[in-house]
Formats: sequence, structure tokens, C-alpha cells
Amino acid sequence: MKRRGFLEGFAAAQAAAAAQAQAAQAQTAQTYERKTRGLSRLTIKRVYPIMTAGGSRYTWVFVKVETSEPGLYGIGSASNHHQAFTVAASIEKHMAPFWEGRDIDRVDDIWFATNYRNYRRSDTVLNNALSGLDMALWDIKGKRAGMPVYDLLGGKVRDAVPCYGHADGRSPDEVSDGVKVFLDKGYRHVRAQMGGYGGGGMVAPGQGKRIPNGFAGPAFDEEMYVEAIPKLMEHIRVKLGKDVKLIHDVHEHLSPTMAVELARRLEPYRMFYVEDLLPPELIQWYRNIKQVCSTPIAMGEIFTNPQEWVPCITERIIDFARHRVSTIGGITPARKVAILCETFGVRTAFQEGGDNDPVNFAAACHVDLASSGFGIQEDNRWPELVHEMLPGTPKIPDGFAYVNEAPGLGIDLNEAMARKYPVANPSGREDGFTVRAIDGSLVRP
Ligand code: MG
Repeated sequence: MKRRGFLEGFAAAQAAAAAQAQAAQAQTAQTYERKTRGLSRLTIKRVYPIMTAGGSRYTWVFVKVETSEPGLYGIGSASNHHQAFTVAASIEKHMAPFWEGRDIDRVDDIWFATNYRNYRRSDTVLNNALSGLDMALWDIKGKRAGMPVYDLLGGKVRDAVPCYGHADGRSPDEVSDGVKVFLDKGYRHVRAQMGGYGGGGMVAPGQGKRIPNGFAGPAFDEEMYVEAIPKLMEHIRVKLGKDVKLIHDVHEHLSPTMAVELARRLEPYRMFYVEDLLPPELIQWYRNIKQVCSTPIAMGEIFTNPQEWVPCITERIIDFARHRVSTIGGITPARKVAILCETFGVRTAFQEGGDNDPVNFAAACHVDLASSGFGIQEDNRWPELVHEMLPGTPKIPDGFAYVNEAPGLGIDLNEAMARKYPVANPSGREDGFTVRAIDGSLVRP
């Protein structure tokens, strides 16, 4: 009897558990129905890369994500100028099969599942591929909800996105003239460089005390640079006054003590920020800068791993975080960076660049619009043909970027037009970031 009673009790418990599970399932389905207003569950049907030179020499990689709902798709940016073909192959061969069939609503879950899939996370190529998917999923979520992405992120905290422009010239006069062009257009923030990458510190080819039969190209001299740049800023202040918010990019070319020295010497010119004084390997030296002057520091466009940026932000040794959205994995990590910045009193200054594409810029602008941790956005502009190829590309008519207010990212890609401009393989011998000193040794970026 006793045993029979036990069996009956066990069966009853099993039935109760089954009923409970069924009820929970029904509850989940009900919740899901409520959440999606009765829309059917959506899955990722197909993911593929689209490469285009954009009618120029761009090496853009876009990602298109088609869903199980016919006609509903999203696009994202996976561009990486230096490894474009590798990123496209990663998406096609490795990632698309991993992503297809997944629930499109679970953006954060897919993001982490993808990052952990490789075991060795935050790989730079993976970050780009992931960014392509991530932006497309936010695009789809927005289209589904009938809202721009910034609304999904909490809604606008500003009406448009303040941007900074790039002024360059061969002399202080040319640079200040270039700054004025932006001020006249309505910009308040301008980056002032003199002579391009490493400019202000370059000894002309063949000039200076050279090693016989040695390196004869343009050579970087950090003492010369640290003398030239404060004089440039002084010149701009004298000519244009105190109102312009000045930015300068050092491109990490200085040794640590010289970086501290430059920041100190720039203090009287009240910079909006000085960017990339030091490379990611030497971020501890930012503490030394903070001890000697109040020049604001920006850093982050080379960062690919949270291990690099979290200490910079939480220990408040930088003032602006300059991530490129597509380099760190898309909107999902970018909004987390923005929230971390807001919490610790650091501001964002998301990076753009001549190689960057309009989808990445649109994604950055959506995060900027909804972020209280925002500081400034680097601007970007493209020829008319690109606006035709990517309708909805944000415009910057007066120093402020405006996104298309359509649901999602508000930007589309004319696939047929994109395919008319195949990407050549320009980067095999390209050496854009190599700078050498007068003895022929490398100066790291
Ligand atoms: Mg920079």
C-alpha cells in the first residue's frame, strides 16, 4: 500500500509539474503576444555581406539581414578598410550560418553568443562582422516598432547631433582660414591640424641630419612637433578669438613624457580636447597628464576590447571616449559605452574618418541623440552619388547632423547600385599609418 501511495503521489506531482510548465508556456506566449502586439515571432532568415567602392575608392562592407517576414530586413555596417575582404568572408562563411534561424528580438543575447562563440572574444574582424549584424537587428527592431532607433534607446535628449569639422593647412594662417570656413558654416567645434598625419613634426624628405644611404623619407621629430602645435593654437586664438572649440589629434606619435609636456603646453589655449596623445599600450601615462594640467584628453578609436576602455572611463583618466561604433561591435556596445561615460562623467566623441560609411555614421548619431553621456560627434560627408546609393544618409547642413526620422536607422542601401562599384584590392601595399623617425625607426601610431 505504502509503495502504491508513493507511486500515486509521484504521478500526481508529475502531472502538477506538467500543468505548471504548460501554464508557464501559455503565460510566455501571452507575454510575447502582448510585447509584439500580436506580430508573429521573427527569425533571421538570411545574412549576407554587400561590398561596394561607393563610386569611389571606398572599401565598404554592409550586412543585410533578411527576416522570416517577407520584405522586412535590416542593414548594418561591417566596414574595415584594412581587412574588408576578410570581414566579408567571415560573415559569409562563419557567421551567417551561426546567425540564421535565431530569434531577431534577442539582440543582446545574440551579441554575446557571437562574441563567446569564438572563445577568444573581441577579435577585431569579429567585432566588424558583429557590428553589421547588430546594427541590422536594431534597424529591424525599429522598423517593427514603427520607431527610429533613438526612440528604442530611450528617446532624444537633444534635437540634433553637434559635430566637429576638420581643418588642415600647410601653415598656421592656412589652418586658421580653414577653421573659419567651418565657423562660417555654423560649426562651433573644429579640429585643427597642420600638414596632415604627423604634420607639424615632419622633417621634409632628404632634409635634416640623415644616416648616409639610410632612410630619406619624411621623418617625425617629436620635439619639433611639441614646439609647433602650441604655436599653431596660439595663432588660431589670436586670429579667431576664444569662442571656437578647438580639437587637435596627435595620432599617438609621442613618447610618454613628451605627451605630458604637450598637454601642459596646450593648457593656456583651452582646448575642447587633445586626442590620441598616447597609444593604447601606454594608457597608464594619462594619469601623469591629469596630475599636471587640465587639458581634456580624448582616446578610443583604436580600442576593440572593453578591457582597454573600462579602466580609462571608470578611473576618469580620459575626458572623451572616441570609439568607432562598427569597430567595437555596433550599437549594443556603443550604447553601453555611452551609459558608462554618463555614469563616470566622461563624454563620448564617436569617431568617423575618411574610410567610414554612412550606416556607421547613422548608427552613431542614433546613440548620440539618446545619450546623456554625449560630448561631440566627428562629422563625415560623402558625394551625392553615395546619398543616392544610401538614401537617408544623415546630413550636416549647419554643424549639426540630422538623421532621417523613418523607423529603424532611417537609411537604406540600393543593392543593385552598390554592386555596380566593386571593391578593388587597394590595401595590399598600403602603408597609411607608418611614420618613421630620422634614423629610419618606426614611430608607432
Ligand atoms: Mg585620432
